[in-house]
Amino acid sequence: MSLAPPLIEASSVTQIFAASDGEPSWALKNASLAVSPGEFVCIIGPSGCGKSTLLHMIAGFLKPTEGALRFRGRPIEAPGPERGVVFQEYALFAWMTVRQNVEFGLKMRGVGKAERRDKARRFLEVVGLAKMADRYPHELSGGMRQRVAVARALVNEPEVLLMDEPFAAVDAITRATLQDELLRLWQEFRISVVFITHNIDEAIFLGQRIVVMSAHPGSIRSEVRIDLPYPRDRGSAEFAGLYAQIGAELYGKGKTA
Ligand code: ADP
Ligand code: MG
Repeated sequence: MSLAPPLIEASSVTQIFAASDGEPSWALKNASLAVSPGEFVCIIGPSGCGKSTLLHMIAGFLKPTEGALRFRGRPIEAPGPERGVVFQEYALFAWMTVRQNVEFGLKMRGVGKAERRDKARRFLEVVGLAKMADRYPHELSGGMRQRVAVARALVNEPEVLLMDEPFAAVDAITRATLQDELLRLWQEFRISVVFITHNIDEAIFLGQRIVVMSAHPGSIRSEVRIDLPYPRDRGSAEFAGLYAQIGAELYGKGKTA
């Protein structure tokens, strides 16, 4: 009997940046993480604890100083369409229409025009923006722009979405809607999601597992499994209990935050 490798595996990953004053800066120390196919994992931690650094290494934008990163058992060397990335800031091309933004990755990979059109239409429908195909990013609301960013990642049919605080810049009501939509897409497409947030409520609402990080140096402090069924009830006693538990993990046991 052979065990399939995890979808994503980070083994004792360390990232040291050379700081301007010559002192090396430890962005991440000895972090290990495995993500299974179809799993929804949230990573939570204070600002500067290395969340983006870890995600950028999984995406293949950045090589670790030490340690190894693997996708389905193969070393991660570069970005790839099987790993779709959604950033916090609206990383859309301002000079391209919504449709051109969504088609961009396919075009880069040499997919023909008719197929590009078709797929872009389908995934803009998936995120409810079929009518906005010919608009430019500046004509859209923040929530719409993040939906375009999600469509642009999904159109490449990735096995995982890597999301770096994707809903942090939108208002609370839009954020709740985007969270509901993301859960629907995750269930429909049966992909994995690695979702970074510094919002406890968001992590408990979304994740099957929450990885808690701490800073100085950035490292993984603990993991909490969230067994609540979806859709989750923010008003439930279980939710409140988990909120207190994650808060204690995040701010350090024994301290009141
Ligand atoms: P987070 O996303 O959790 O806020 P980051 O991964 O962005 O944290 O950063 C972790 C630490 O590494 C921070 O102290 C940050 O200043 C530092 N850092 C990140 N990127 C670089 C870089 N390219 N050069 C130098 N230091 C960096
Ligand atoms: Mg960050």
